[in-house]
Amino acid sequence: MSVQNGFAGTVGHTPLIRLRTLSEETGCEILGKAEFMNPGGSVKDRAARAIIDDAEKRGELKPGGIVVEGTAGNTGIGLAHVCNARGYRCIIVMPDNQSPEKYQLLEMLGAEVYKVPTVPYSNPNQYQKVAQRLAASLRNAIWSNQFDNTANRRAHVETTGPEIWEQTGGKIDAFVTAAGTGGTIAGVSEYLKSQRRSVRCVLADPPGSSLYEFVRNGVLKATGSGSITEGIGIGRVTANFANAPLDDAVHVEDGDTVHYVYRLLREEGLFLGSTSGINVAGAVRVARDLGPGHTVVTVLCDGGAKYQSRLFNPAWLVQKGLAASAGEPRKSERIALENVLVA
Ligand code: PMP
Repeated sequence: MSVQNGFAGTVGHTPLIRLRTLSEETGCEILGKAEFMNPGGSVKDRAARAIIDDAEKRGELKPGGIVVEGTAGNTGIGLAHVCNARGYRCIIVMPDNQSPEKYQLLEMLGAEVYKVPTVPYSNPNQYQKVAQRLAASLRNAIWSNQFDNTANRRAHVETTGPEIWEQTGGKIDAFVTAAGTGGTIAGVSEYLKSQRRSVRCVLADPPGSSLYEFVRNGVLKATGSGSITEGIGIGRVTANFANAPLDDAVHVEDGDTVHYVYRLLREEGLFLGSTSGINVAGAVRVARDLGPGHTVVTVLCDGGAKYQSRLFNPAWLVQKGLAASAGEPRKSERIALENVLVA
């Protein structure tokens, strides 16, 4: 056992988990990179650490400074932790359509949270643009700019990609994941292809995102509209996503995403968020296309606790028409506790 240096030292080096039932069903090795085991609870801890390290190195972020970000949640959570550990003030601008648990968690961590109406990227009051102007209006503040700051992608070229290569001993046929900023998919794909060009790199894209059409046909055009997934799916090519060396994309409906979230919970004992569900759905699709005997790696991005009021709320699933996709929990008769209690 070695000793790690604080929060930042604990980010990364996550396990690679074999998903047993899905591997058996497909005849492939389906492996999930356990990013939910990062100290702040998501894959975005890697980007948060890298962005702050980079700003410090370039002299933009000085002691006692302020970090401002526009984020749907997980990057903010990662930044809030790194800011606490290094004495920075953390200001988070979020759209107002996210899970309530995320706002509460950020506030518990000590970040200042500002909610803005959910509007399209073209609107000057879109959350990322508000964050940019807010940072510019403050002294000794940086806008961490996770979408276009390529320190984010670099984190995955330098850490996530090499870890996956090493953990599989180079025995990897495909890598599949969704894109929020694109940092994970672009960075990991770039590294894997630098090791062996034939590793198949595939985007899993939710309804409402324009990247499926972009990867398949070179045009930014939304497929379907709106998704229950949070933090993924985009309508533009970010600097982090630009020139990602991708071979293909799969479009995943929310029903499939929810189906796999609940299978992971009940069959694998893994309590995960919706982006892990879409990623696993994509990995299974790619495994079936490749046929038995292949190794397909995907990303288990974050845990399920933040989604208690939505993805894990039966009434909410009914409202979204997704209750059937979640399936039934294992049935067992309730125990008559009075037979066990001592009178
Ligand atoms: N899953 C979750 C839960 C996320 O929060 C994000 C980023 N917002 C992603 C996946 C996508 O990661 P990336 O930004 O690296 O594309």
